[in-house]
Parts: sequence; C-alpha cells; structure tokens
Amino acid sequence: MKITFLGTGTSQGIPVINSLDPVCLSTDKRDKRLRVSILVEWDSYTYVVDCGPDFRYQMLRADVRKIDGILFTHEHADHVAGFDDIRPYCFQMGEVPIYAQERVLTTLTERFAYIFETENKYPGSPSVKQYSIGEGAFKLHNLEVHPINVMHGDLPILGFRFREFAYLTDVKTISNKEKEKLKSLKVLVISALRIEPHKTHLNLDEALALIDELKPEKTYLTHISHKLGFHAEVEKILPKNVFLAYDELEIMI
Ligand SMILES: [Zn+2]
Ligand SMILES: [Zn+2]
Repeated sequence: MKITFLGTGTSQGIPVINSLDPVCLSTDKRDKRLRVSILVEWDSYTYVVDCGPDFRYQMLRADVRKIDGILFTHEHADHVAGFDDIRPYCFQMGEVPIYAQERVLTTLTERFAYIFETENKYPGSPSVKQYSIGEGAFKLHNLEVHPINVMHGDLPILGFRFREFAYLTDVKTISNKEKEKLKSLKVLVISALRIEPHKTHLNLDEALALIDELKPEKTYLTHISHKLGFHAEVEKILPKNVFLAYDELEIMI
C-alpha cells in the first residue's frame, strides 16, 4: 500500500496569506503545506481522504489520473471545500463514491445542494454515490477499512485504519474503546497542530503522549500550523520513529 501526503497543513495552509511569520517565509520546501489530505493506493485502486480547497492542485501535482472514491473525515471547510473540483473524475467514471458519516453527508448536501440535485441538475456538475459510514468496518474492493471515531473538540469525526496503517487528523481526544482499534500499527499518521494547546486539536506534547500510549512502529505528524515551527528544527526534537510529514512525501506500508 502506498500513501502520498497531498497536503500536511492546517486550515490556512503554510504560508498563510499576508503572513510575515518566519515559518511562512521559509525557503525550505517542507515548510510549504497545502491543506491536509492523503492518497491511498493499493493494487489498482486509488482513494483520497478529504477534498479540501487545494484538491485540484493536489491532483495535478501528484498526477492522479483516476480515483475510485473519496473518504471524508469531517465537514470542516479545509476538508471539503474542493468538492466541486471532482468533476474531471465524474466525466471519466460517472458517479464518484463518497464515504462519510451521516451528519457529514447531510452537511455536504446543504453546502453543495446542486451536486445532490436529482431533477434539472445543472449540466456538468459533479455526481456522487453516497455511502454512510461510521459504525463498523466496511469494504473497499478487497480491503477492509475500519473507521476510528475520534473527538475533534466536541465534534465526533472519523479517522481510518487500513491494515497496519491508520490516518487520524483533527484529533483532540480518543476514547479507550477506539484506542483498542489502533493497536499493532506499522505506521500511524496523526495531527499535531502547534506547540501551544488548542481547544479542538492535539498540540505537539499531547500528540507525543498519545503516540507513546499507542506505540506504533513509526509515526508521521500532520495538520501542521506555522506555529509549530520550522520543519528542520521540530524534527530535531522529536522522539525516535516520530517524524513530521511534508507535502509530496510517499511511504510504502
Ligand atoms: Zn482541519
Ligand atoms: Zn476540523
């Protein structure tokens, strides 16, 4: 299975528009972060997790010729705002399968009503096939996917486990029951927003404490704010086997 980090930044991305913060002005390529998303590929299948405002550019940059579907973690704009840009894939394959919690599907239907229109639909607008997920495991072809219910502040959202790989973004807390589903991981991707605490996101210390508890073989941090610091500096202080993800990083599991 191949994972490509399409974006590793928090909601505003890095650089932030108009920011004079040194991290936003950094010339290190790894300090340029689009909004968070990954590509998951195995056999001949390709799925995207989330579809944020940078989706179009991310698909062009990674040269993604086809997708088999989109999994949504939650409905915040940095995870869904690129939804209209799935059109080239719809022209190619017809309805694009989308997987999300019922609440997220409802929100998408409200925000992108024209996509879900059944009568007099505007020609050329995207078409999707909705799958409601969240309770149990579900199948994508030959692969079992386990949704992981995590809390993003007060909002219950989803992470996903694919075999020995798990992707958890926008996390603040995880119940003991869900932690059980995160045992024996080869690779964990988890969000770590910044150094200072935040109401709805893990900061670096909280993420490291959770990693220590879950004990995956390797961890990559994502959903990173410029307030976490320079990529090169932060990596130096991380424990063994914990790394910062960066845009366009590819890992094989
Ligand atoms: Zn987010
Ligand atoms: Zn969020």
